[in-house]
Amino acid sequence: MKPAPFDYFAPTTLDEVFELLSKYGDDARVIAGGQSLVPMLALRLARPEVLIDLNRIPSLAGISEDGGTLRIGAMTRQARALASDVIRNRLPLLHQALWNVGHPPTRARGTLGGSISHADPAAETPMVMMAYNASMVIAGKDNERIVEAGDFTLGTFETCLEDGEILKEIIVDAPRSDEGIGFAELSRRRGDFAMVSAAARLRLNADGTCADAHLIIGAVAPVPLRCDAVAQALVGTEPTEQRLREAVGLIDLDSFSFDNPEVSLAYRRHIAPTLAFRALAQAAGKASGLHT
Ligand SMILES: Cc1cc2nc3c(=O)[nH]c(=O)nc-3n(C[C@H](O)[C@H](O)[C@H](O)COP(=O)(O)OP(=O)(O)OC[C@H]3O[C@@H](n4cnc5c(N)ncnc54)[C@H](O)[C@@H]3O)c2cc1C
Repeated sequence: MKPAPFDYFAPTTLDEVFELLSKYGDDARVIAGGQSLVPMLALRLARPEVLIDLNRIPSLAGISEDGGTLRIGAMTRQARALASDVIRNRLPLLHQALWNVGHPPTRARGTLGGSISHADPAAETPMVMMAYNASMVIAGKDNERIVEAGDFTLGTFETCLEDGEILKEIIVDAPRSDEGIGFAELSRRRGDFAMVSAAARLRLNADGTCADAHLIIGAVAPVPLRCDAVAQALVGTEPTEQRLREAVGLIDLDSFSFDNPEVSLAYRRHIAPTLAFRALAQAAGKASGLHT
C-alpha cells in the first residue's frame, strides 16, 4: 500500500514548527526518523494531511553534559547515541539498551525522541528513561514544560503531549560512577521488539549491601512497569543469587496485561522474573567490581 496524500513541510526553525502545528492542528503530524511513522503511513494506520519534518532543525539534535547533567536532543539518532562516549560512560544503561533497538539501518535514522514519543510498550528507550528518572522537556508555541519520564507515557502509543507540542529534549542527571547496570531482553530474533525486557540499576554500600536499586520491566503492560517492591526488598541486604531470586518473586505479575497469540500473558509472567534476575545480577556484579 502507499500512504494517503499529504502536504509536506520541512521547517528550519522551531518557531516555524509551532506555527505549522497551530495552523494545522489535529491534521498535522511531526516526523522524526520515520522508522515507525513511515510504515504506519504506508499501511494507512496514520493518515495525517500534513507532515512536519523535524530533520532540518539542528538545535533539536545533540548530546551535551554540563556539571553532571546530560541533555539529549529529541532528534538525536539512536546510532549517534550508541556511538557516543558520553552516553557509554555516563548513561551505560541507555548504551546497553540501544543495542536492542532495531537494527543498524533503523538506528541510523530512528531518533531517541521519536522512540519515546511513539510510546510503543515494547520500546527500550522509554523504560530506560524511567529507570534514570529522566525529565522530558516538552515545547509548544508559547510554553515549555518538564515532565518526569514516568508521567510522559500514558498508555500504548499514548503520551502526555498536547496538541501543538513536541518533545524537545531529554534531561538526565548522570548517576554516580559506582553504580552497576544490567539489561536483559527476550525477543524472537535480534533486533525484533522485546517479548519482555528488564532494566536495572544498583549501587552497593562499603559492606556489600545494596544501597539503592531500580528495576523496570517492559513489554508487559501499556506503560513500563516500575518494580519498587523488588528494589525496596534489596536495599540493605547483600544481593546474593538467592536474595535476588527472592526479590524478583515480588514482581507484581497481576499487573501484567499483555496477552496475544504471539506472546501469551502466561509466558510473559513466566519469563519476566528470569529476565529481571539477569538484569539485577548483571547490575550487582558490575557494582561490586566498581566499588572501592
Ligand atoms: C524493522 C524495525 C525494527 C524495530 N525494532 C525496534 C525495537 O526493537 N525496539 C524499539 O524500541 N524500536 C524499534 N523500532 C522502532 C524504531 O526504534 C523507531 O525509530 C522509533 O519507534 C521511532 O523513532 P523515529 O525517530 O523513527 O520516529 P518517527 O517514526 O518519525 O515518529 C514516530 C512517532 O513519534 C512522533 N514523534 C517523533 N518525534 C517526535 C517529537 N520530537 N515530538 C513529538 N512527537 C514526535 C511522530 O509524530 C510519530 O507519531 C523498529 C523499527 C523497525 C522499522
